Amino acid sequence: MLPVVSIVGRPNVGKSTIFNRLIGSRKAIVDDQYGVTRDRHYGESHWNGREFTVIDTGGYQPDATDVMIEGIREQVHIALDESDIILFVVDTEAGITSLDMSVANLLRQQEKPVLLVANKSDNEERALNATEFYSLGFEELFPVSAINGTGTGDLLDRLVELL
Ligand code: GDP
Ligand code: MG
Repeated sequence: MLPVVSIVGRPNVGKSTIFNRLIGSRKAIVDDQYGVTRDRHYGESHWNGREFTVIDTGGYQPDATDVMIEGIREQVHIALDESDIILFVVDTEAGITSLDMSVANLLRQQEKPVLLVANKSDNEERALNATEFYSLGFEELFPVSAINGTGTGDLLDRLVELL
Protein backbone atom coordinates (compact mmCIF):
# COMPACT_ATOMS: atom_id res chain seq x y z
CA MET A 1 0.00 0.00 0.00
CA LEU A 2 1.22 3.51 -0.79
CA PRO A 3 1.83 6.03 1.98
CA VAL A 4 -1.21 8.22 2.59
CA VAL A 5 -1.31 12.01 2.81
CA SER A 6 -4.50 13.68 4.04
CA ILE A 7 -5.49 17.27 3.36
CA VAL A 8 -7.44 18.79 6.26
CA GLY A 9 -8.64 22.26 7.21
CA ARG A 10 -11.76 24.36 7.49
CA PRO A 11 -14.01 24.91 4.46
CA ASN A 12 -12.88 27.23 1.67
CA VAL A 13 -9.14 27.35 2.37
CA GLY A 14 -8.39 25.58 -0.92
CA LYS A 15 -8.09 21.90 0.06
CA SER A 16 -9.75 20.63 -3.10
CA THR A 17 -7.70 22.98 -5.29
CA ILE A 18 -4.50 21.63 -3.71
CA PHE A 19 -5.76 18.07 -4.12
CA ASN A 20 -6.47 18.64 -7.81
CA ARG A 21 -3.03 20.16 -8.30
CA LEU A 22 -1.40 17.18 -6.59
CA ILE A 23 -3.20 14.51 -8.56
CA GLY A 24 -3.09 16.49 -11.82
CA SER A 25 -4.90 14.79 -14.67
CA ARG A 26 -5.35 11.55 -12.74
CA LYS A 27 -8.88 10.79 -11.71
CA ALA A 28 -10.12 11.07 -8.16
CA ILE A 29 -11.92 8.13 -6.61
CA VAL A 30 -14.98 9.38 -4.78
CA ASP A 31 -15.90 7.52 -1.62
CA ASP A 32 -19.19 8.70 -0.22
CA GLN A 33 -20.24 5.40 1.31
CA TYR A 34 -20.20 6.80 4.83
CA GLY A 35 -22.36 9.82 4.12
CA VAL A 36 -21.78 13.53 4.07
CA THR A 37 -19.32 14.07 6.91
CA ARG A 38 -17.03 11.34 5.63
CA ASP A 39 -17.23 12.30 2.00
CA ARG A 40 -13.69 12.04 0.66
CA HIS A 41 -11.81 11.95 -2.60
CA TYR A 42 -8.79 9.71 -3.12
CA GLY A 43 -6.13 10.13 -5.75
CA GLU A 44 -2.58 9.10 -6.49
CA SER A 45 0.36 11.41 -6.90
CA HIS A 46 4.12 11.22 -7.25
CA TRP A 47 7.11 13.51 -6.76
CA ASN A 48 10.82 12.80 -7.11
CA GLY A 49 9.99 9.20 -7.93
CA ARG A 50 7.96 8.65 -4.75
CA GLU A 51 4.32 7.62 -5.08
CA PHE A 52 1.64 8.35 -2.51
CA THR A 53 -2.11 8.43 -2.06
CA VAL A 54 -3.76 11.80 -1.39
CA ILE A 55 -7.08 12.19 0.41
CA ASP A 56 -9.17 15.34 0.12
CA THR A 57 -11.37 15.45 3.21
CA GLY A 58 -14.68 17.10 3.72
CA GLY A 59 -17.13 18.21 1.16
CA TYR A 60 -18.73 19.17 4.44
CA GLN A 61 -19.94 22.79 4.51
CA PRO A 62 -22.72 23.35 7.04
CA ASP A 63 -23.57 26.89 8.07
CA ALA A 64 -23.71 26.63 11.87
CA THR A 65 -20.26 26.94 13.42
CA ASP A 66 -20.89 24.41 16.21
CA VAL A 67 -21.99 21.81 13.66
CA MET A 68 -18.98 22.71 11.54
CA ILE A 69 -16.59 22.08 14.44
CA GLU A 70 -18.11 18.62 14.93
CA GLY A 71 -17.74 17.88 11.23
CA ILE A 72 -14.13 19.01 11.22
CA ARG A 73 -13.39 16.99 14.35
CA GLU A 74 -14.67 13.89 12.61
CA GLN A 75 -12.78 14.77 9.43
CA VAL A 76 -9.51 15.12 11.36
CA HIS A 77 -10.00 11.91 13.32
CA ILE A 78 -10.61 9.90 10.16
CA ALA A 79 -7.62 11.55 8.49
CA LEU A 80 -5.40 10.69 11.45
CA ASP A 81 -6.61 7.09 11.40
CA GLU A 82 -5.84 6.62 7.74
CA SER A 83 -2.81 8.70 6.96
CA ASP A 84 0.92 8.93 7.48
CA ILE A 85 1.23 12.68 6.97
CA ILE A 86 -1.22 15.55 7.36
CA LEU A 87 -1.34 18.66 5.22
CA PHE A 88 -3.12 21.24 7.38
CA VAL A 89 -4.33 23.96 5.05
CA VAL A 90 -5.02 27.56 6.11
CA ASP A 91 -5.82 30.67 4.06
CA THR A 92 -3.35 33.56 3.91
CA GLU A 93 -5.98 35.86 2.45
CA ALA A 94 -8.31 35.31 5.41
CA GLY A 95 -5.71 34.99 8.18
CA ILE A 96 -6.18 32.86 11.30
CA THR A 97 -9.76 32.01 12.23
CA SER A 98 -11.21 30.28 15.29
CA LEU A 99 -11.90 27.17 13.20
CA ASP A 100 -8.20 27.05 12.23
CA MET A 101 -7.39 27.12 15.94
CA SER A 102 -9.83 24.25 16.59
CA VAL A 103 -8.18 22.15 13.89
CA ALA A 104 -4.72 23.06 15.22
CA ASN A 105 -5.70 21.94 18.73
CA LEU A 106 -6.80 18.55 17.41
CA LEU A 107 -3.64 18.09 15.35
CA ARG A 108 -1.26 19.10 18.15
CA GLN A 109 -2.62 16.27 20.33
CA GLN A 110 -1.13 13.57 18.12
CA GLU A 111 2.23 12.43 16.81
CA LYS A 112 1.89 12.24 13.04
CA PRO A 113 3.85 14.79 11.04
CA VAL A 114 1.90 17.92 10.14
CA LEU A 115 2.91 20.29 7.37
CA LEU A 116 1.11 23.61 7.68
CA VAL A 117 0.17 24.88 4.24
CA ALA A 118 -0.56 28.61 3.99
CA ASN A 119 -2.54 28.57 0.77
CA LYS A 120 -3.58 31.58 -1.31
CA SER A 121 -0.05 33.01 -0.92
CA ASP A 122 -0.39 34.21 -4.50
CA ASN A 123 2.19 36.99 -4.20
CA GLU A 124 5.19 37.94 -2.08
CA GLU A 125 3.25 40.15 0.30
CA ARG A 126 0.86 37.33 1.15
CA ALA A 127 3.72 34.87 1.51
CA LEU A 128 5.29 37.22 4.09
CA ASN A 129 1.96 37.55 5.93
CA ALA A 130 1.83 33.77 6.14
CA THR A 131 4.35 33.85 9.02
CA GLU A 132 1.43 34.71 11.35
CA PHE A 133 0.42 31.04 11.11
CA TYR A 134 3.49 30.00 13.10
CA SER A 135 1.41 30.98 16.13
CA LEU A 136 -0.74 27.88 15.49
CA GLY A 137 2.20 25.91 16.90
CA PHE A 138 3.60 23.94 13.97
CA GLU A 139 7.24 24.11 12.97
CA GLU A 140 6.95 23.52 9.26
CA LEU A 141 5.08 26.20 7.34
CA PHE A 142 4.80 26.34 3.54
CA PRO A 143 3.31 29.38 1.83
CA VAL A 144 1.81 28.12 -1.44
CA SER A 145 -0.61 29.18 -4.11
CA ALA A 146 -2.64 26.24 -5.35
CA ILE A 147 -3.91 28.49 -8.13
CA ASN A 148 -0.58 29.61 -9.63
CA GLY A 149 1.65 26.84 -8.26
CA THR A 150 4.01 29.03 -6.20
CA GLY A 151 5.65 27.10 -3.36
CA THR A 152 4.15 23.72 -4.17
CA GLY A 153 7.54 22.30 -5.21
CA ASP A 154 9.08 23.10 -1.81
CA LEU A 155 6.08 21.56 -0.07
CA LEU A 156 6.33 18.37 -2.14
CA ASP A 157 10.11 18.14 -1.61
CA ARG A 158 9.56 18.10 2.14
CA LEU A 159 6.51 15.84 1.93
CA VAL A 160 8.33 13.04 0.11
CA GLU A 161 11.28 13.34 2.52
CA LEU A 162 8.86 12.33 5.28
CA LEU A 163 7.33 9.35 3.43
P1 GDP B 1 -11.97 23.77 0.14
O1 GDP B 1 -13.35 24.07 0.63
O2 GDP B 1 -10.97 23.89 1.26
O3 GDP B 1 -11.87 22.48 -0.60
O4 GDP B 1 -11.56 24.95 -0.88
P2 GDP B 1 -11.63 24.97 -2.48
O5 GDP B 1 -10.49 24.23 -3.08
O6 GDP B 1 -12.99 24.59 -2.92
O7 GDP B 1 -11.33 26.52 -2.76
C1 GDP B 1 -12.15 27.54 -2.18
C2 GDP B 1 -11.98 28.82 -2.98
O8 GDP B 1 -10.63 29.31 -2.85
C3 GDP B 1 -12.21 28.63 -4.47
O9 GDP B 1 -12.88 29.77 -4.95
C4 GDP B 1 -10.81 28.55 -5.04
O10 GDP B 1 -10.73 28.97 -6.38
C5 GDP B 1 -10.05 29.50 -4.13
N1 GDP B 1 -8.62 29.17 -4.06
C6 GDP B 1 -8.05 27.95 -3.89
N2 GDP B 1 -6.71 28.04 -3.90
C7 GDP B 1 -6.40 29.34 -4.09
C8 GDP B 1 -5.16 30.08 -4.20
O11 GDP B 1 -4.05 29.55 -4.15
N3 GDP B 1 -5.27 31.43 -4.36
C9 GDP B 1 -6.47 32.06 -4.44
N4 GDP B 1 -6.46 33.39 -4.60
N5 GDP B 1 -7.65 31.41 -4.35
C10 GDP B 1 -7.62 30.07 -4.18
MG1 MG C 1 -13.26 20.95 -0.92
